[in-house]
Amino acid sequence: MAYTKEDIIRMVKEEDIEFIRMQFTDIFGQLKNVALTASQIEKAVNNEIMFDGSSIEGFVRIDESDQYLYPDLDSFVAFPWRPAHGKVARLICDVYNADGTPFVGDPRGVLKRVLKKARDMGFDTFNVGPEAEFFLFQTDEEGKPTTKTNDEAGYFDLGPLDHGESTRREICLALEQMGFEIEASHHEVAAGQHEIDFKYTEALKAADNIMTFKLAVKTLAQKNGLHATFMPKPIFGVAGSGMHTNMSLFKNGENVFCDPKGEKGLSKECYSFIAGLLHHVKGMAAVTNPLVNSYKRLVPGYEAPCYLSWSASNRSALIRIPATRGQGTRVELRSPDPSCNPYLELAVCLAAGLDGIEKGMTPPAEITENIYAMDEDARDARGISALPGSLEEAIEALEADQLVLDTLGSHVAENYIEGKRKEWDEYRTRVSSWEREKYIINY
Ligand code: ADP
Ligand code: MG
Ligand code: MG
Ligand code: MG
Ligand code: MG
Repeated sequence: MAYTKEDIIRMVKEEDIEFIRMQFTDIFGQLKNVALTASQIEKAVNNEIMFDGSSIEGFVRIDESDQYLYPDLDSFVAFPWRPAHGKVARLICDVYNADGTPFVGDPRGVLKRVLKKARDMGFDTFNVGPEAEFFLFQTDEEGKPTTKTNDEAGYFDLGPLDHGESTRREICLALEQMGFEIEASHHEVAAGQHEIDFKYTEALKAADNIMTFKLAVKTLAQKNGLHATFMPKPIFGVAGSGMHTNMSLFKNGENVFCDPKGEKGLSKECYSFIAGLLHHVKGMAAVTNPLVNSYKRLVPGYEAPCYLSWSASNRSALIRIPATRGQGTRVELRSPDPSCNPYLELAVCLAAGLDGIEKGMTPPAEITENIYAMDEDARDARGISALPGSLEEAIEALEADQLVLDTLGSHVAENYIEGKRKEWDEYRTRVSSWEREKYIINY
């Protein structure tokens, strides 16, 4: 599907669209938009919509603030949850400078740069299938989110009466209307936790899809009086939400990771891609797991990874190679969580894998045992190291990984690290209720 400017202008008229949202994502993964009335559509498709970049966190300073939105015409779609009157459509945009050059701080541009590098190496397509998990919580009388789940509240209302399940079904229907192919949707391990899997696609579109997915989930939850959150670990002692990222490289329509003659049916490139991911995964963590809270998910016992390892089966491994071969051959990275900026996440994942291929890296031996059951000595003996234990450690690992820094580019890297350091410092200096409960009487 490739829309022309004329197609967009015609569809806006024919479908009676009244508003157009020009969307882009800031470096911290927040979806932003400039709303236009339909009368502005010609200006919009001609890349003439300007906005003030200095009002977006981590973008530019006041003195260089005029930026332009160049819409990706193929991203045009109407929001199915809006009423038939006053319809709203969106266009996902690239951010450009006033002089017509791409803005280096645009996360979508960061991903495009790495995709170009992959093409230069002969890999025409990087396919990505994300598995984003989320919680649906009840809201209180003021509409504020609680941590009460529906499953608990209505525990005798099974099946179709469960409000969470019916909301998830509505989300799936809306996504299908927006062109998603939903492969599976199911309740997750924790009460109130859900997963919706949509079919893999080329990485830029996959990242766009993740942003659309989060918007759809949040919007439809709210319409149903619930609050959806992609916060990685909303409740202590209960499984957190991850975003397993399934990846494969294609060349001329063929999956490069598959090699029937290779060990376990995997190609040399696949092993090098795994090795590259393992080599850079600590440096990538501040991007794949960007919040203070992200590190509360990465603890033993909940199928979330903590240690650097790969396996063809083991779900305690950081990287799993699902049994499927042929076109479905893929590498599943299990550390990312859905609070990450998907453009930056996929950019650093691809760059790490390509680095492995370029340098002909080989991964360490597969770990088939349950790593959670090993003690530190057993892990040390096998050379299994751990992911960063906190956002602070992750920032330090990022600063020490030149490939990840270069992938982000100095503008994004500097602003990102500055923002994350501030976030860590805010957290570090707060006094939590856990501390008070633990210390106020005994000391
Ligand atoms: P799991 O067994 O880990 O729960 P799921 O079935 O929930 O896995 O999700 C698998 C994801 O992998 C889906 O999004 C699917 O489209 C995606 N996928 C399938 N084949 C490929 C491929 N070749 N490259 C990338 N992703 C793929
Ligand atoms: Mg899954
Ligand atoms: Mg599955
Ligand atoms: Mg899951
Ligand atoms: Mg998975």
